Amino acid sequence: MNPLLEVSGVSVSFDGFKAINNLSFRIGRTELRAIIGPNGAGKTTFMDVVTGKTTPDTGRITWDGKRRSIFARSEARIAREGIGRKFQKPTVFEEQSVQDNLIMAVKADHRPLAVLLYRPTPEHMARVAQLADEIGLTDALHRMAGELSHGQKQWLEIGMLLAQEPRLLLVDEPAAGMTPEEREQTTAILVAAAQTRAVVVVEHDMEFVRRLNCKVTVLHEGSVLAEGSLDHVTADQTVIDVYLGR
Ligand code: ADP
Repeated sequence: MNPLLEVSGVSVSFDGFKAINNLSFRIGRTELRAIIGPNGAGKTTFMDVVTGKTTPDTGRITWDGKRRSIFARSEARIAREGIGRKFQKPTVFEEQSVQDNLIMAVKADHRPLAVLLYRPTPEHMARVAQLADEIGLTDALHRMAGELSHGQKQWLEIGMLLAQEPRLLLVDEPAAGMTPEEREQTTAILVAAAQTRAVVVVEHDMEFVRRLNCKVTVLHEGSVLAEGSLDHVTADQTVIDVYLGR
């Protein structure tokens, strides 16, 4: 079967400096993948390319078997096509309840007033209950989002992205600042999400990557340095050299 996303020979330069250098990457329709690499490896730029925020100089991107014009797609349009991106810092509506945040996401109407403007249907509420279950926040539905722990806010935002039913979810350092218990639950949420979609996690924390128990792509100087299980890539001498700064 075609991969969901295939990136071939993509390069991105900033003032002559190649942040992404002839990068190729593919991910299946239901796959969890971790991307690791030292600072400056090109991880953020790569996600910017996938979400249309940055236009590559060269290369080919195929989405769902079709070539995607690399020059013409806005980030909003790519989101509509099924790519959700979670940045490191959670952005939820702190003055709204968990339930109302999820209602807004399910209705794809991100104005806080939307909850008041029209009542959610029973189908909306069923979906909200399902999402709350998936992110482990059923008991917190009526709490204000601003009162949640850092980890809970991250889960809520993941739930709000899942409400849009993305086919590919990109998540930037989800475990940062979390307690060990929160990390465990985050692992479970991401593993479950990848049962029905592709999930790409950019992460620095190797212990968290180990928990994800998935294929790992190591980026370095804008290219893929190694790919495989965490044990495989961490045994690779070129990867060891990069991480030890040799
Ligand atoms: P990572 O996320 O792996 O830390 P980035 O994708 O942020 O790496 O950056 C890759 C390289 O590209 C870095 O050397 C960074 O300084 C450079 N870079 C990223 N964005 C820009 C930009 N807008 N202008 C100039 N250089 C950039």
